[in-house]
Amino acid sequence: MTSVPLSQAGTLYVVATPIGHLADLTERARHILATVDIVACEDTRHTSKLLQHLGVRKPLLSVHDHNERDRLQHIKTLLDQGQSIALVSDAGTPLISDPGYVLVQDLRQHHYRVVPIPGVSAIITALSAAGLPTDRFTFEGFLPHKSGAKREKLEAQAQDARTLVYYEAKHRILDTLQMMADVFGEDRLACVARELTKTFETFYHGTLPQILQQLQSDSDQQKGEFVVMVTGNSQPASASDIDSDKLFRLLLAELPPKKAAAIVAELTGQNKKDLYQVALQLKQP
Ligand code: SAM
Repeated sequence: MTSVPLSQAGTLYVVATPIGHLADLTERARHILATVDIVACEDTRHTSKLLQHLGVRKPLLSVHDHNERDRLQHIKTLLDQGQSIALVSDAGTPLISDPGYVLVQDLRQHHYRVVPIPGVSAIITALSAAGLPTDRFTFEGFLPHKSGAKREKLEAQAQDARTLVYYEAKHRILDTLQMMADVFGEDRLACVARELTKTFETFYHGTLPQILQQLQSDSDQQKGEFVVMVTGNSQPASASDIDSDKLFRLLLAELPPKKAAAIVAELTGQNKKDLYQVALQLKQP
């Protein structure tokens, strides 16, 4: 027998939780957490604290990046038995740079009921108060950790006219802002949102070097969680502006054929596989 209303039976609720300020949990999220049978969460200790704050006791099931695939069958069995499950992550909206995609994709494919319980996400919270264009933006999540891969990714995004949004960790924030200034140029306007909805919430606004300087001037400003937003390229080079042949040869001198082909394909719209074949020929001694 399930203890929840019949309409909840066999449903997975994807529940957004606060990113700092506990009062940002919605009424609906509170109700769902209080009435489901099981809460599936990234970190059981973290979620126990949230539930304790709500005065709710529920069986917890850990679902994180390393066990999500193994949990699929167990979760489907629970849903088949008529149990209702709330999926939460440590903060914000599950699946947004957080676990849950593998699970939700599988449940959708198998026609289970998946219901979003919307709430906070750091992307939208940051954009809503940044003062940068929001009519078109692209969320890029976390950049690669390795510096070569990171630079390559930024170079591929340098022509994008949309506002670029990234998540970044405190121990990489200075390095990332410096690389962005190198790749995007020193004039691009940007905004960095730190510790959103928390006591030390701060927005840094200006060009990338100006923001970098503000953060470098005080090590306290390098603490916490960050969303980095950069205005898009206002004068993107069109494919016809680029001497793709020259660019390709320059890149090939520095990069493996596959990477050079990927960048030129991104910039010019040419076919990546064709470019790769050309690259292999050009690389031949
Ligand atoms: N699922 C979350 C969401 O909906 O925003 C994101 C989880 S991701 C693992 C964590 C990253 O989100 C942090 O490293 C930071 O870049 C960003 N973030 C989360 N909370 C934040 C906050 N209060 N202030 C600024 N950035 C935050």
